[in-house]
Amino acid sequence: MANLILDERDQKFLLYEMFDVEKLLEQPRYEAFSRDMFDMVLEEARKFAINEIFPTLKAGDREGCRLQDGQVHVPEAYHRCYRLYCEGGWGAMGFLPESGGQGLPHIVSLAVKDWFVHNFAFFAYPGLTEGAARLVESYGTEAQKKRYLEKMVTGEWGGTMCLTEPNAGTDVGNSSSRALRQPDGTYRIQGTKIFISSGDHDLCENIVHALLARIEGDVPGTKGLSIFLVPKYLVDEDGSPGRRNDYEVAKIEEKMGIHGSATCLLNFGDNGDCYAELLGEERQGMKIMFQMMNEARIGVGMQGVTSASIAYLHALQYAKERIQGSSIRDFKNPEAPRVPIIRHPDVRRMLLWMKSNVESMRALLYYTALCGDRAEIETDDARRERWIGMVELLTPVCKAYNSDIGFRVTETAIQVYGGYGYCSEYPVEQFLRDEKIASIYEGANGIQALDLVGRKLALKNGAYFMNLIGEMNETIAGYREVPDLKDLAEDVQKAVAALGETGFFFAQCAGQKDFLTPISNAYPFLMMMGKVIAGWFLLWEAGVAMEKLDVLSQDKGVESRDPAAWQAFIRESKDAAFYSGKIFSARYFIRNILPEAEAAARGIRSKDMSVMEIPEESFAS
Ligand SMILES: Cc1cc2nc3c(=O)[nH]c(=O)nc-3n(C[C@H](O)[C@H](O)[C@H](O)COP(=O)(O)OP(=O)(O)OC[C@H]3O[C@@H](n4cnc5c(N)ncnc54)[C@H](O)[C@@H]3O)c2cc1C
Repeated sequence: MANLILDERDQKFLLYEMFDVEKLLEQPRYEAFSRDMFDMVLEEARKFAINEIFPTLKAGDREGCRLQDGQVHVPEAYHRCYRLYCEGGWGAMGFLPESGGQGLPHIVSLAVKDWFVHNFAFFAYPGLTEGAARLVESYGTEAQKKRYLEKMVTGEWGGTMCLTEPNAGTDVGNSSSRALRQPDGTYRIQGTKIFISSGDHDLCENIVHALLARIEGDVPGTKGLSIFLVPKYLVDEDGSPGRRNDYEVAKIEEKMGIHGSATCLLNFGDNGDCYAELLGEERQGMKIMFQMMNEARIGVGMQGVTSASIAYLHALQYAKERIQGSSIRDFKNPEAPRVPIIRHPDVRRMLLWMKSNVESMRALLYYTALCGDRAEIETDDARRERWIGMVELLTPVCKAYNSDIGFRVTETAIQVYGGYGYCSEYPVEQFLRDEKIASIYEGANGIQALDLVGRKLALKNGAYFMNLIGEMNETIAGYREVPDLKDLAEDVQKAVAALGETGFFFAQCAGQKDFLTPISNAYPFLMMMGKVIAGWFLLWEAGVAMEKLDVLSQDKGVESRDPAAWQAFIRESKDAAFYSGKIFSARYFIRNILPEAEAAARGIRSKDMSVMEIPEESFAS
């Protein structure tokens, strides 16, 4: 195995064999690119991840960040890594060429990040900068772009998103940060922001905070919030950092994981002189911030996939090396030779469970990025709308399903390692600690579920949801007549039908003014939807793999009816082993995990209201 970060064969399979990324090259927007260029970028990303980013993972965890004389210092190892990241132009990948970027398709830049995000504590610094820079690109005035954009795209300056306050976590509209208008059109900020990732650090000479605050006199709630650019150092006429702005870093949080990521408490304007510039229009803060939040939600979904991926590959390697117990076939013989734990059925179960989850979550993420690309290049309004709808609908699923299942995969990796996995001498316990936050930030997963059920399902009278069901049915129809896949296709069909019916059931509840049933079942619904989508992708992956396997076996003159020859063929050909693994992932998931989706649907439709009816006094005596 070449690396333990991600299975590059799986990445290439998704990009080229399943999602046919080369088709994007027919579009004028991407005519300057070629498959060779995509491959070259991915190869460089692979090398950079293996040689530079991965080696800082453990060091960053051990060293953590420190606050000294009002300045945050990140782990030493991050400095070289960040410099090389900037020199390599990695932060500029997805930006438009006119902003100094390379204009790669979203799905390709996402595939690049798939290599980097396993070290989320490090990646938070360039990742948040990219998100904040994109806000400036989309909403900044020409003067603001000139002042900030290029330096942020190159990574010379950092960026953050400042929403959270002590009394405004999930309830962002409760923000009490104030913005005072100045005669020259700028503002002065007063308020406290907590939990701000990359809120301060010594990787860049300046940091530009994208901060939500309420202009004095504006209405309460989210509608009254505006967004501001608050630089750490005000920018002089010549573009260089000038006077230090009036805010301070009061502390950095002591966290369970991502120790290398500085999570800061920032006090703005204690001396009444915290300079800020309005970004976009007044009271449009949430709308604008949503661009960054949606990107960040995909990023957090990716954290789920990358944590799961690295945890799975480590567990797999360990399971092949760790010798313990004898084969189940020799259970009566105490003298039987000891075997690697990968031979034990329960360990194989855990590994296949992890594998099928990693592969389906990765497919979900790449597909969502591809929908984003299609939305941008589509010239037909109705088709563009269809892809936009797909991104809207899939974003909360990417975020919440991937982060929760990603966590469970990291936990299962510890189980595969046994006691060693629980000890910090081995790497998997860090993966679990680093991953846990993904279900909490960027809107806790319960809130993602409310967004899905309370808003996204009903968008355009449910048309977005029906389009998704239609896409799934189209894939299923393609495999219903394939002898080796038709049973699986039927099972996925049933799960898709259950999903559609549950969506319809929610619409009926809402029609009868019963909002409590959909709201209290939002999270089970989101997880059910994630499982059905996973089943859909795995069936699709198996279908592609089966076609490839047929071609390969015909080339070699091997027949699947001859078990011995077939097994030798799978053992000897890496491609054959890979494709056959895809079919097993699909079969295992669809037969063993997907039925959970129908069970969830039954639970939801039972209209059981225990969660609301149990008196608070009855939760514990
Ligand atoms: C390491 C770290 C990094 C972070 N980085 C940033 C950052 O860069 N920028 C930033 O602005 N913030 C950041 N945050 C803040 C993060 O986004 C919040 O912690 C998160 O939004 C939840 O807010 P809270 O912690 O106040 O929890 P609460 O809002 O108190 O929520 C607690 C629980 O109650 C649930 N809940 C709350 N309200 C409702 C409701 N109306 N309906 C149903 N359930 C509800 C939540 O789902 C959650 O499970 C970070 C946090 C951490 C820990």
